[in-house]
Amino acid sequence: TRTPLMAGNWKMNLDHHQATHTVQKLAWTLKDAKHDYSTVEVAVLPPFTDLRSVQTLVDADKLDVKYGAQDVSAHLEGAYTGEISATMLAKLGVTYVAIGHSERREYHAETDALLNEKILAAVGQGLAPVLCVGEGLDVRKAGEQIPHTIAQLQGALAGIPATQLENLVVAYEPVWAIGTGEVATPEDAQEVCGAIRGALGDLYDGELADATRVLYGGSVKSSNVAAIMSQPDVDGALVGGASLDPEEFAKIVRYQA
Ligand code: 13P
Repeated sequence: TRTPLMAGNWKMNLDHHQATHTVQKLAWTLKDAKHDYSTVEVAVLPPFTDLRSVQTLVDADKLDVKYGAQDVSAHLEGAYTGEISATMLAKLGVTYVAIGHSERREYHAETDALLNEKILAAVGQGLAPVLCVGEGLDVRKAGEQIPHTIAQLQGALAGIPATQLENLVVAYEPVWAIGTGEVATPEDAQEVCGAIRGALGDLYDGELADATRVLYGGSVKSSNVAAIMSQPDVDGALVGGASLDPEEFAKIVRYQA
């Protein structure tokens, strides 16, 4: 059985003061609600410049909130101005790293081949990759969402053995549903999340497919999360805008309550 994961992707929002405040408020709200983190795991993905502050808070207050990065370099060190390595992230106690978010693919022209290298860099340092896949509106209108998304999955995972993917998380984020308020229906989410699990079974084996958490992302809110989570192949959510408000994000985490 897979433990659901609610991960907040803050994108380029919240400076390190706001990050500390937000994580503190999130943890307090969840504590008030007597949240059992073993039933629904909670993570935030702040900007790089916030990670050290979040680490300090999480360590000092012994919080069960996990944290991660929104991107990682394919390289481990060297002359790569502006990049951040998996080694550096591992030193900050990072658990997760988003790889191939649609905003990275679109604005930074990230290719499947590059994402493949980034996954290898991440898993080599013990980080859990959150591989983001999903189609744009044109592809959805053409009804090609499954082959498109599975091709992204295959491209990013090409040649990576199952032994390296024990902590893999896949996030299905249809681009047309990101930041638009246009949430995929639970059935739309299930269709592609189920296909992703099927493809993991074909590429690897049933064990890896069963163990891998497949998240849905795109306009998730406290008002729609329960219906999405009721689908058998949806194991959590990658939440953008709604994760910036700690009370709203806590409600998403507490979707069963
Ligand atoms: P929104 O929840 O703001 O639509 O963003 C989704 C997303 O891109 C999470 O990675």
